[in-house]
Amino acid sequence: MLDNGGMNPEEFRAAGHELIDWIADYRLRVGSLPVRSSVQPSDVRSALPELPPEASEPVRALLDDLDSIVVPGLTHAQHPRNFAWFPSNASLSSVLGDIAASGIGALGITWQSAPALTEVEQVVCDWLRRLTGLSEAWHGTITDGASTACLVALLVARERASDGSQRRGGLQAERAPLVAYCSEQAHSSVTKAALLAGYGADNLRYVPAPAPDRAMEPHELDSLMSADERSGRRPAVVVATAGTTGTAGFDPLRAVNEVARAHGAFVHVDAAMAGSAMLLAEHRHLFDGIEEADSLCWNPHKWMGSVLETSLFYVKDPPELVRVLATDPSYLRSSVDGSVVQFRDWGLPLGRRFRALKLWFQLRLDGPEAIRARLRRDLENAARLAALVKAEADWQVLAPVQLQTVCTRHVPLGLAGDDLDAHTLSWCEAINRSGLAHLTPAILDGHWMVRVSIGAEATEWADVEALWELMKTTAGETATGSTS
Ligand SMILES: *Cc1c(COP(=O)(O)O)cnc(C)c1O
Repeated sequence: MLDNGGMNPEEFRAAGHELIDWIADYRLRVGSLPVRSSVQPSDVRSALPELPPEASEPVRALLDDLDSIVVPGLTHAQHPRNFAWFPSNASLSSVLGDIAASGIGALGITWQSAPALTEVEQVVCDWLRRLTGLSEAWHGTITDGASTACLVALLVARERASDGSQRRGGLQAERAPLVAYCSEQAHSSVTKAALLAGYGADNLRYVPAPAPDRAMEPHELDSLMSADERSGRRPAVVVATAGTTGTAGFDPLRAVNEVARAHGAFVHVDAAMAGSAMLLAEHRHLFDGIEEADSLCWNPHKWMGSVLETSLFYVKDPPELVRVLATDPSYLRSSVDGSVVQFRDWGLPLGRRFRALKLWFQLRLDGPEAIRARLRRDLENAARLAALVKAEADWQVLAPVQLQTVCTRHVPLGLAGDDLDAHTLSWCEAINRSGLAHLTPAILDGHWMVRVSIGAEATEWADVEALWELMKTTAGETATGSTS
């Protein structure tokens, strides 16, 4: 122990080895655990004491509690039969980068406070820019998530459209209300960002995105923007989605950008989930027109497999970003200001972790080739599943399968409306309750469907095939009332 009672480096070494072993063992056995946690609210809290023990405990005691209290309290995102929400992969190579970042404990508040932190971040953002086929016009930074990136984009758009209103009376002094647009399929974080950035719910337009593609209709966007101009409002920003949450649909980025530009609006592209597909040259056509946008975001912490809070935010015009977000207190100044990037001026927080190491480790230890191969595996598994579903008379695929998400519904003869909804929720819940696989139900066109989001790192075709058998049996039994 250190004189101050803290862990010394030798103790850290020993405990760290135990922890790494524990993590490796967890990953080895995760596939044998129930996917969805069956704990009830407060079970975890009540298993833990009201105060930590006063005296130091051995690391073994913590690892035991991880096993007996924490693991049962988890729905396992790394499970090969996890098909819920989106792939939230945490590749072990990236885990090592995360541990390195914590171990180094750098303080990222200015370039000078940790020059390598800033510059490795620039390097990995550039690496991924090139690997995804984006041009040199883009300058990237790492944020915690797509929600934050969208908020920042909407703040910058607000300031562009109001000619820097924050330096005057803010939006409260603006005469023409600023309007934000997104498709009706956009993620809830876009609504949240528009509200937080002060646009107001009355100035947020949801552009129709009809079936089957559920892509934003550019002519509808155009008419909404024109109508707003006629009524004295100012179209300020369009958030286009590449890879929607419901069906992994794509807004037509080129057409949306053209319309937005004609009305002088900023364009942010939310590619949080699907951005990983830009790593595959054969899928870049889905993102055609992305180069015309002002900012974009995608999350390597989803399908690509970096540990969470690794979201890439790229802008065309960093000085514009800095004008909106910069502060310049005396204690943060240094002699190199002006010649270096200060990432604190590119986002909301001042202090940042060495997040870039999660990407740096993953890209170097796994390598882009293996990452691309895994993404292609998932795309092929999704296509194979979709073909099996379509081949069954009483099953439907509800949206084009452009990536790794398959939207399904089991439609037994004679079932419709509320009864069909009840059936859908019932077989999905039966699967989730079984712990054998995990799926997310969601509402599409007013009715429940089940999303199969393929792409957990451990998921192989055998897992998808087993899921499909489970879906057929469970939905069949639910329809005939053999289970409740
Ligand atoms: C996941 C997702 C988000 C939210 O991302 P966070 O990083 O969790 O904030 C936003 N938009 C889309 C399309 C997403 O898939």
